[in-house]
Amino acid sequence: MRTIIVDAGHGGPDSGAKGLESTEAAINLQVSLKLAKALREAFPDRKILETRTTSALPGYLSNAVAANRYRAEWANKMGGDLFIALHCNAAGRKPGGWYTQRVVGQVARTRYVKKGKKRVKQTYYVNNYENVWVENNTRGTETYIWAVGKNEQKVSAVKNNDDYYNEEEDSNEELKMPDPNDPAEKARMLIYAQHYFRKSYSLATLVEKEFIASGRTSRGVQQRNHKGIWVLQATGMPSILVEMGFISNRDEEAYMLSEPGQAEIVQGIVNAVKIYVERLG
Ligand SMILES: [Zn+2]
Repeated sequence: MRTIIVDAGHGGPDSGAKGLESTEAAINLQVSLKLAKALREAFPDRKILETRTTSALPGYLSNAVAANRYRAEWANKMGGDLFIALHCNAAGRKPGGWYTQRVVGQVARTRYVKKGKKRVKQTYYVNNYENVWVENNTRGTETYIWAVGKNEQKVSAVKNNDDYYNEEEDSNEELKMPDPNDPAEKARMLIYAQHYFRKSYSLATLVEKEFIASGRTSRGVQQRNHKGIWVLQATGMPSILVEMGFISNRDEEAYMLSEPGQAEIVQGIVNAVKIYVERLG
């Protein structure tokens, strides 16, 4: 392995998911700069390349979809042996939390129905509500790899889960998913399955293990093939996409914005890459 590509997700007009204090694009960039520096120190003989080092989209493009194609093409052109994308997750209605209404009792009201001699008094009840704060508690890390040949039904079931959304979906609407009937794409997917899947899975598992060791909540290795991780299959190399935490959770956003939090995330990924490289021999 000679060249590692570090890819800070989003950028420029594509902010990614929003937190209370920051955006995904900003956190991804901060951590990616530190990760690239740490990888250079850990692997002085290897080339460490970044898809972007500024707040702009890679290649200074103005379109998020074009930028995602650029990320993959650039990584391939640079002869990358490993692709590590950094992202933040989001869930729930709003970052931080939101108010909802809870019934705390009922109040009696009266009204008169009918007219003249038939007029009668009626009692009815209305609900008494109280505003209740719902903290956005979804938390944890996830590392994605491209799911080769995963059946589409399973994937759409995951996408329809209300509790979970991923803002990548929107910005990638125009990206074409690999067509399993196209011979060229079929061949490419076969190469991915034979050469890169196992390695990607192995590194993803190591990254999540490191996160667990540093006390994080791990949601594990996720194998999916939705558009948010399109870039993984477009790179001809083992590739992972690390969701470092939920920017929609105030604690995890604060952690990802903090010096110690960023250092811990970086150290975890570097440790995982070290073990991965040793195993490759
Ligand atoms: Zn993202």
